[in-house]
Amino acid sequence: MMDQPRCSLPDIIGTSELMRRRKRYAHSGSVWPVKELTWKVRSYPQASSLSPDLVRTLLFYALQAWGNASALTFREAPGAGADILVDFSRSFHEDGYPFDGPGSTLAHAFFPGEHPISGDTHFDDEETWIYDPQAKQQGQQGVGGGLAGGT
Ligand SMILES: [Zn+2]
Repeated sequence: MMDQPRCSLPDIIGTSELMRRRKRYAHSGSVWPVKELTWKVRSYPQASSLSPDLVRTLLFYALQAWGNASALTFREAPGAGADILVDFSRSFHEDGYPFDGPGSTLAHAFFPGEHPISGDTHFDDEETWIYDPQAKQQGQQGVGGGLAGGT
């Protein structure tokens, strides 16, 4: 069985940020205009051994847990577009928030809303992403129930 995800896509996931957000929950006040959201993985990790199917499976369970804890439902989009586009990107990737290479910031996501980038979630592809079901117990950083990044 999958572990319960440890977080529901905070805006920034990183070593120091993760520690800070445990103490102070970030709430932007922005909300989704609809409750039924679609998601799509637009690009997959190039530098890690995670298969596209596993990435999609992990995100499915992460979003299912988010849905269970909220009024939202999530469905993988059949076409190209989606409310939540997921990318594994490096350095500068056209959103003004360049990644910093291995370590530190691991991922970030945009707050809900009606802008095209709202909800989009980016993972730093210079991290080594692994699937580790034990990550929760070991106290490692984990996203989506065991998707862990590190150097
Ligand atoms: Zn980004």
